[in-house]
Amino acid sequence: MPATLAEVTRFAPSPTGLMHLGHAYAAMVAEDLARKTGGRLLLRIDDIDFARCRAEFETMIYEDLAWLGIAWETPVRRQSECLIGYNDALDKLRGMGLTYPCFCTRKEILQEAARAPAAPHGMEGSLYPGTCHTVSLDERNARMNAGDAYALRLDLAAASHRSSKRIWFTELGAGPQGECGGIDVKPSLMGDIVLARGGAQGLSAWAYHLAVVVDDAAQGISCVTRGRDLFYATHVQRLLQVLLGFPAPRYLHHGLVVDAAGKRLAKRHDAVSLRQLRLQGMTVQQVRDLAHQSVC
Ligand code: GLU
Repeated sequence: MPATLAEVTRFAPSPTGLMHLGHAYAAMVAEDLARKTGGRLLLRIDDIDFARCRAEFETMIYEDLAWLGIAWETPVRRQSECLIGYNDALDKLRGMGLTYPCFCTRKEILQEAARAPAAPHGMEGSLYPGTCHTVSLDERNARMNAGDAYALRLDLAAASHRSSKRIWFTELGAGPQGECGGIDVKPSLMGDIVLARGGAQGLSAWAYHLAVVVDDAAQGISCVTRGRDLFYATHVQRLLQVLLGFPAPRYLHHGLVVDAAGKRLAKRHDAVSLRQLRLQGMTVQQVRDLAHQSVC
């Protein structure tokens, strides 16, 4: 019998609101895997969305986790302190000719998708229709030099061409349709994702998919545990890992905590924030049990 692998896993909340039962459950899944395998639980603060992240929510994350009795290693990785790594990864993809600037506004993308019913669709709705893929190099350069706002997108066609090998991942949990085991990736489910945003002042924001793959590699994560809502993101994240030469973690996508009406919890569900439950007098064990019972 092979020895159980000591998994290095992580809990990666974004400090954009109060933590709720869903976060407690995600943290418990990661904690459980680390404990069962004699591994490690790392904490990461996904604070790359500068407009939405707030210091007080980060403080509450530490307080809530400590109250739940979840221990994590220090130093904690904070995305806002790792921008150089995201830039390096982006430069690498750019150097390989796998990105292109997109000048479309959100409104234009929605209008284009509505106009062309045959526009590409992923598992989560319409995908970027590729409008700027065909913009000439001269026009791209002119618009970037003029300081137009742009998103740097992954050129999926070029990227897939470059890595023609089979890419797959191991799912230890289950996807939204029960997907498990060895799963072949279909990055087209996500389309030409945004990797970063820029404008007259150069790059100003790095996107979730890029940051996550850089972080998971930098932290030596052997098993990513996270909610099933991110299952399809794994398809394109695996492609990025291959392109960037990063190792492949295993994945354990878990069920999501829902409210009494069966709806997934959001940060605005303050009534079930961990802070609120604590103030109502619930014990740690009661909150842990409630999180387990509320998973769908
Ligand atoms: N920060 C993300 C979230 O709060 C999780 C990122 C991940 O697990 O890949 O949903």
